[in-house]
Amino acid sequence: MHFVVLMGGPGAGKGTQARLLQAALGLPQVASGDLFREHFANNTELGKLARRYVDRGDLVPDEVTIAMIKERLSRLDNAGGAILDGFPRTIAQAEDLDLLLANMNERISVVPYIHVDSDILLKRLAGRWTCRAEGHVYHDFFSPPKMPGICDVDGSELYQRDDDTEETQRRRIDVYFRQTAPLLDYYREKELLVEIDGERSIDDIQRDLVEVIRSVA
Ligand code: AMP
Repeated sequence: MHFVVLMGGPGAGKGTQARLLQAALGLPQVASGDLFREHFANNTELGKLARRYVDRGDLVPDEVTIAMIKERLSRLDNAGGAILDGFPRTIAQAEDLDLLLANMNERISVVPYIHVDSDILLKRLAGRWTCRAEGHVYHDFFSPPKMPGICDVDGSELYQRDDDTEETQRRRIDVYFRQTAPLLDYYREKELLVEIDGERSIDDIQRDLVEVIRSVA
C-alpha cells in the first residue's frame, strides 16, 4: 500500500493536486478539511465541536482530528493506500499517524511538499471558489471557470468557503507557519520529504508529483 502525505500551505494547491492524483494513480484522496465539511453538512456531534475552530482558521484539537482520520482510514478496504491532504498538521498528529500505520503494518511512502511563498498563498486564497457537488477548486485570476459561478466539471454552483474571508485566511497562513511548518523538518529527518516548486502550472506540478510517487511505488 502507498500512503502519500501531501504537504503545503493553505492555497498551495494540495486539494487540486490530490484530486488529480486520485484519478492518475487510483489512490483515494483523504482530505481532513473535506471530512470536517462533511460533518458540518451532516450536523454531527464532531462537526459541532470542530466548527468554531474551523471558522476562526484555527486547528481543530488533535484528539478530534485524529479520531476522525482513524475512522476514515479504517474504511480504506482494498484501496491500495491513500493520498493524505491536510493531515497531519501538527507533530502530535504526525506521530499518531506513524503509530496508526505501524498497526496496519504500513508506513508513509513519501511526503511531497508543494512549496509556494506566503504572499502568493494569500493572493490565491483571496479569489478561491469551490464547487458544491465535489469540491473542485477555481480561482478568479489563476484558473477561472468557463462560466462564472458554475463548475466546469459537474455544472454545480461555485461558492466561497466560510473560512475564506480575509481575516481567516491570514490566520490560517499564520497557523500554518507556526504549527504545521515544523513538520517539514520532521519528515526531512526521516528522508521522506521531496520539495516541489508550487509556483508553476497545475499540469507541471502534477507531472512532478506523479513521477515522485511512482519512483517510490
Ligand atoms: P483545509 O480544507 O485543509 O484548508 O482545512 C480547513 C480547516 O479545517 C482548517 O483551517 C482547520 O480548521 C481544519 N483542519 C483541517 N485539517 C486539520 C488538521 N489536520 N488538524 C486540525 N485542523 C484541521
